[in-house]
Amino acid sequence: MDTEVLSTPAVLILLGPPGAGKGTQARKLEEQFGLVQLSTGDLLRAAVAAGTEAGKQAKAVMEAGDLVSDDIVIAILRDRLADPDCARGVILDGFPRTDAQARALDVLLAETGQKISAAISLEVNDDAMVTRISGRYTCAGCGEGYHDTFKTPQTKGVCDNCGDTEFKRRADDNAATVASRLRAYHAQTAPLITYYDGQDVLERINAMGGIDEIARGLATIVKGAMR
Ligand code: AMP
Repeated sequence: MDTEVLSTPAVLILLGPPGAGKGTQARKLEEQFGLVQLSTGDLLRAAVAAGTEAGKQAKAVMEAGDLVSDDIVIAILRDRLADPDCARGVILDGFPRTDAQARALDVLLAETGQKISAAISLEVNDDAMVTRISGRYTCAGCGEGYHDTFKTPQTKGVCDNCGDTEFKRRADDNAATVASRLRAYHAQTAPLITYYDGQDVLERINAMGGIDEIARGLATIVKGAMR
């Protein structure tokens, strides 16, 4: 797919419960608009794997499906946002998740003269999320997402995108942890929908359809927000 250049670097936020498709759609927006996907979940998993101090503190919290402390997550996000590639524009996937994180992001962006282009709420039914999450896995090589029922590789065991034959499943993608993650979403993250509505940057999209249909809807929203 050709990359479409936006007139100014976008700052997009994807809001939605676990399993809503934030990661999948962020990857598509990254490809289509040349933006950088910033997933705090990925950054935290990398910190856990690397055994950093932040990773050690985050590990048990993530395994329980609770939220990692604002201080840790904000510090990780701040560092990543300062990397030169982020100047192309970013898609925040899984951040902010609390009121304190949303306010910290406003401050961070103000410091660099940036502002939020759109906060897009991916609207789904909770009931479907457990099925979506329980069956999902990714290519170990390129991170392409798959699902036991909804999206299998064209050739069994071979990634469509990069040809790798290794796949991985997340440790926290099990029914018990998903229930905690959904609770955390509704208690602490869903109120941000009202927060961004108040800033006049909120967009909503029905995210119960097919991946490509939702991607088309999101692309339309992004282009509209950047006009
Ligand atoms: P995700 O990959 O976005 O589903 O995140 C996986 C886990 O990482 C979450 O269940 C949390 O434990 C932690 N996490 C990711 N992003 C955040 C965040 N912004 N604030 C707090 N915890 C987070």
